[in-house]
Amino acid sequence: TALADQVEAIDPEVGAFLTLDREKVLEAAAASDARREKGKKLSPIDGIPVGIKDVMAIEGEPLTCASRILEKFNSPYTGTVGNKLLSAGLIPFGRLNMDEFAMGSSTENSAVKKTRNPWNTEHAPGGSSGGSAAAVAARECPWSLGSDTGGSIRQPAAFCGVVGLKPTYGRVSRFGLAAFASSLDQIGPMGRSIDDVATLLDVISGPDPLDSTSWPEKLEAASVQLHMPDEPRKLGIPEEYFGEGIQPEVRSAVEEVIEVYRTVGYKIKKISLPHTGLAVPTYYIIATAEASSNLARYDGIRYTHRSPKAVDGIDLYYQSRGEGFGQEVKRRIILGSYVLSSGYYDAYYKRAQQVRTLIRNDFLKAFGEVDAILTPTTPSPAFQIGEKVDDPISMYLADIFTISVNLAGLPGLSMPCGLSESGLPIGFQLIGQPFAEGNLLQTGKAYE
Ligand code: GLN
Repeated sequence: TALADQVEAIDPEVGAFLTLDREKVLEAAAASDARREKGKKLSPIDGIPVGIKDVMAIEGEPLTCASRILEKFNSPYTGTVGNKLLSAGLIPFGRLNMDEFAMGSSTENSAVKKTRNPWNTEHAPGGSSGGSAAAVAARECPWSLGSDTGGSIRQPAAFCGVVGLKPTYGRVSRFGLAAFASSLDQIGPMGRSIDDVATLLDVISGPDPLDSTSWPEKLEAASVQLHMPDEPRKLGIPEEYFGEGIQPEVRSAVEEVIEVYRTVGYKIKKISLPHTGLAVPTYYIIATAEASSNLARYDGIRYTHRSPKAVDGIDLYYQSRGEGFGQEVKRRIILGSYVLSSGYYDAYYKRAQQVRTLIRNDFLKAFGEVDAILTPTTPSPAFQIGEKVDDPISMYLADIFTISVNLAGLPGLSMPCGLSESGLPIGFQLIGQPFAEGNLLQTGKAYE
């Protein structure tokens, strides 16, 4: 009740929540109390609320992806992550705002409302998981889940001064996650500390026969590994992430982080990831191509919004999609259909897949020499609301340091490392080897 009151008091200003069903939350809390009273052996996190980005299926809860096309849609089933939360006794706590279908970097593409950065409400919380980051930063929930296709957990975590982890592709099932770009999407935890993020990661991880891309082997729990004896590791500093375009105060904050690691015994090595400059165009070809295909399912027939204006079957499709999708989503569908069209497939899509391999190989080569890679999470602290929304290219560039990690399928962790002169959080990113979340979190903990 206290937390729901907190949301009622604060959220009109922050705007992190799309909905919060108070009754349902109280019911779930009572059920947890009853389990405890019965003396059942409970998981230590039983009864803790968790904020949910409005992109994951939980039966009977809204699932709108902050889009008009799904405005009235309630999920008929619970996805794998939802089931895992419920079996751990966690309480789904509200549906959090996001860029429509997770497309964006500021949460301004939400068809419902804007979310504001709790550190300074003139500024954006980042995106697309802006609601998930802002809710944790504003103490409206202890932790939350986001999804990350090109930085959507790490960039808002950096902008809002919280910890966010994008797991290795395949560690967390995508069954029940509304698809944006299936080869890049991962659900991941956001919280106030490394321990919280590790705990939530373990709840949601694991093989899943319902997702053919989920990693089939059971992995060691990251939270267990986190508390095992640790040795200072070797960190790579890629020169391409510290060049032009990065704001001086971000650069110096991250350089201080490097010094902290050096002081506690980590070895620091300069490395190169030579294909970094190609990551943004490569991502925007692959992500839009997959999105154009994934979003074909919103046809005005099987899902909610159906235009009343349609005169025939084809027109129903056009009108419903025309009315239901926002501008950025339409832009991506058009771009994606173009790069996949028969005349341009080889020039764009196939090329992008080849470059994707080069980007991944850069990382794998670097991991021959270092254990993890340290970079800024974003080139600048949170920009102002309205500053980039009319300039998609500059918005796309806000993801320049996070996107390669998704293209390469690696885990990426963003942690806060101080404030800018104007009082906005700055974040740094640690990139790990595939499935080495335990090591990555240990490294994060060494700074925390
Ligand atoms: N900002 C990126 C985009 O607009 C990434 C989004 C995401 O990770 N979901 O595609």
